[in-house]
Amino acid sequence: MGEELSHRVYLVGAGPGDPGLMTLRGRDLLERADCVVYDALVPRVMLGWCRGDCELIDVGKRGGCHTLSQENINALLVQCARRYACTVRLKGGDPYVFGRGGEEALALQAAGVAFQVVPGICSAIAGPAYAGIPVTHRDYCSQLTIFTGHTASDKGADLPNAATISAVPGTRIMLMGMDKLADNMQALQNAGMPGETPAAAVQWATTARQLCVRATVATLAAAAQAAHLSAPAVVIIGDVVELAEFLDWRKHLPLAGRRILVTRARHQADSLCRALRELGAEVAELPTLRIVPPKDKQAFAKAVVNSPHHDWLVFSSPNGVERFFEAFFTVYEDLRELGGSRIAALGSGTAEQLRKRGLMVDVVPHEAVAEQLIAEFDRRADDFGGLEHSTVLWVHAQQARHVIRRELEKRKAIVDECIAYDVAPGNARYASVLLEERADLITFTSSSAAMHFVSMGLSLPENCAVASMGPITTAALKKLGLPPDVEADLHTIPSLVSAVCHWASTTCP
Ligand code: SAH
Repeated sequence: MGEELSHRVYLVGAGPGDPGLMTLRGRDLLERADCVVYDALVPRVMLGWCRGDCELIDVGKRGGCHTLSQENINALLVQCARRYACTVRLKGGDPYVFGRGGEEALALQAAGVAFQVVPGICSAIAGPAYAGIPVTHRDYCSQLTIFTGHTASDKGADLPNAATISAVPGTRIMLMGMDKLADNMQALQNAGMPGETPAAAVQWATTARQLCVRATVATLAAAAQAAHLSAPAVVIIGDVVELAEFLDWRKHLPLAGRRILVTRARHQADSLCRALRELGAEVAELPTLRIVPPKDKQAFAKAVVNSPHHDWLVFSSPNGVERFFEAFFTVYEDLRELGGSRIAALGSGTAEQLRKRGLMVDVVPHEAVAEQLIAEFDRRADDFGGLEHSTVLWVHAQQARHVIRRELEKRKAIVDECIAYDVAPGNARYASVLLEERADLITFTSSSAAMHFVSMGLSLPENCAVASMGPITTAALKKLGLPPDVEADLHTIPSLVSAVCHWASTTCP
């Protein structure tokens, strides 16, 4: 029992759907959790933040189809707390807003289990905001009421308190009200709410499936039906709905409404994902590969120890830079130990990693392609007196193409190799979960990402377009039977992003 006293359950709010709307504390707990018990509305990408050995338990309930009853969920949480030091109970939006989080907390408390609460961003506030509706505004209202449109009854309207809701001034927000939208809107009018009161419904708010219908209390149900709106949706009633005409900031984003899968090693995906999100896309990282140590760790260590005083250091990838310097600083304390080598980088992403470490790059091609790097060496040969008899340390991945070594040796350089890492398939369990949802586009930024996608046994969601980082990745994709619909001109992230935007401007979401 003593051990169990340090065990804890965290009731964590996952926010409304956009993974960026999760709190820092919530994310930190997910990264540490031994076990995560999650609901249907929780964005699946968050499961990818968990440790590989974290137990993931789906207790999703959608529209009356309960995987587990509430009593069983309560009991399960107590069991998890006995087994695991850190259990996260992950709930959509805020755990205490119509999420039965209060009941779960009481059950934990009754069982003597320690718990903490991490509030989340509630869909009742964020949903309207993402549809251009501020829930309050001084000129429109001074009061906000949030109510449920779903109580236990099976028949008719679900609004026993319709009279109170129609009488109260200000913005009124209904959650869980889609199943009986027409009945509920009628009940409000019967209780005295004017039919012409502005009203809106926002489905799947903050995700790529977000759709907003604006009407009035009298016409909302028909308008929502015509637009095929379904649960989950937030219904907003009140004059603030009119502000959406001016404040719908999302509709102008070029990638709004697109769900894009990014296949890359997790920690590399950041800049691409960030750029796509900034343009309005819902982005899920599909980790088709993991960076692992090279096969021969001793050879890597030796190469790093012997790295100082080469005439040239040639880095093939951002990962190579990262792994090399990680190892370098376990051996040397001072960057100056490296000596005055010149530096070449195979592409701007790699150069960027070097610049971050305070190292300027002497040679970098416009495209991240080995042949282009060699061409750039040739073009600049006069600046540094050619490569003849120069010592070069080439830092690269296990599976590199041998163009660089061969071409440098042709130019009479003496090439040492430093194999800094290898790539292995990513977490297939998690990847399959992500592929269950529809996607509009999947990006491949290297041939190895494409190869691992196939070797992990994954297949494309229906009607999903394929985007390639450039000709070499395209060739690999074609061989694998995944011919791309979108190709970047230059082999860089910014050019991939602009190719994706161009694709979006020529296709409908
Ligand atoms: N605890 C949650 C609410 C749970 S009740 C929160 O704080 O947001 C479930 C209801 O929340 C749904 O029926 C719907 O009305 C609303 N909801 C949750 N996520 C939503 C989303 N992304 N878009 C629209 N409505 C959402």
